[in-house]
Amino acid sequence: MSSVNTAIQLITREQAEKGATAAGSTCSPALAKGPWDYDLAEALAGIPAYGPGASSADVAPAATPRQGQLPEEYKLASDAELGERILAAKAALGDRAVILGHFYQRDEVIQYADFVGDSFQLANAALTRPDAEAIVFCGVHFMAETADILSAPDQAVILPNLAAGCSMADMADADSVAECWEQLEEIFGTEPDAEGRVPVLPVTYMNSSAALKAFCGEHGGIVCTSSNARTVLEWAFQRAQRVLFFPDQHLGRNTAKALGVPLEQMLMWNPRKDLGGNDEQALLDSRVILWHGFCSVHKRFNVGQIEKARMDFPGVQVIVHPECPMDVVDAADSAGSTDFIKKAIAAATEPTTFAIGTEINMVNRLAAEYPQHTVFCLDPVICPCSTMYRIHPGYLAWVLEELVAGRVVNRITVAESVQDHARTALERMLAARP
Ligand code: SF4
Repeated sequence: MSSVNTAIQLITREQAEKGATAAGSTCSPALAKGPWDYDLAEALAGIPAYGPGASSADVAPAATPRQGQLPEEYKLASDAELGERILAAKAALGDRAVILGHFYQRDEVIQYADFVGDSFQLANAALTRPDAEAIVFCGVHFMAETADILSAPDQAVILPNLAAGCSMADMADADSVAECWEQLEEIFGTEPDAEGRVPVLPVTYMNSSAALKAFCGEHGGIVCTSSNARTVLEWAFQRAQRVLFFPDQHLGRNTAKALGVPLEQMLMWNPRKDLGGNDEQALLDSRVILWHGFCSVHKRFNVGQIEKARMDFPGVQVIVHPECPMDVVDAADSAGSTDFIKKAIAAATEPTTFAIGTEINMVNRLAAEYPQHTVFCLDPVICPCSTMYRIHPGYLAWVLEELVAGRVVNRITVAESVQDHARTALERMLAARP
């Protein structure tokens, strides 16, 4: 199995030895370090940060969870030793623990996962293991929260490194959304129109905190994934004159555009500005209000990369994720969720060249899985999701061995009051039909 981590180690070593002549490049040589160095740096600086990788320039909110120090023995252990310890702990735990690995997680961790998928597939996979006392989620914070909402109360959801958040999810916080909502209600009122449609309805992407999912549940709104965003927006437009979509502006814009909403009826809401930076009339004329959020992994893709891929590989199929900017989605052959990308490659019957616009770990894994095709990442620079990268086999070994010893560490718990409303929004999503 190919591994971004191994590639990064090699490139960084070569860069140190050969300088400019090194093959390949990474967005940060700091990626070659152990994530515990960032846990320590955060503790010393007293401020959280996302660490090296695509989100390194994003500002982490002060309330971002931080990881305490990983015990020294796990930092010092070799990959082989960690592997043996993880497998031994897994064997000792048997059905008492299930390990979930997100598509964007590094291979060094994925090799121990019982299920691999996107966030919602994984939360559902956990439901097939009701006997598991612990669900170890090798993904990011909002995914562990969703698993906690959907799992049984006596199941503990564990995030191996608490600092593994999501910079996009952090771009919309509950207070700012509540403030935005208050301003919108002042302008639109709350009365439905003649067709019974409310003035505005909140829609949150799965990549958001449980508090925001609960906000949607409480205000008649709904959750969406990148697979069902179109169906969810159609559902919302049947019930509302307009939609407030957070946190990912790109998924919102790309989906609404595909539904025929004109760009001039899509506004951006900047939470740092009064009325989000809009005037009242523009808000009254709008159909979609997009939160000023984005994924720094998918923001890296651009039209120039697509043009180069088409020049270098005539006939190449370009598939990108809808978290990419609109011009990238428009220039690609197709756009869709991680599941869509995987299925598109699996469905190709003739050897095909695919240029993919999504996270590098998933692209490398697809390349290894489908050797009959040429699969490469549109971005030539190796720059993984910073927060997924915070999970390393050392943390996995630690949480599993603690479980064997009867201790639950790094448990993610969503308050009961939040769970109820969040579940409502998730249930609406499951019931929404095209
Ligand atoms: S890839 Fe982007 S949206 Fe996904 S977890 Fe990383 S920062 Fe968040």
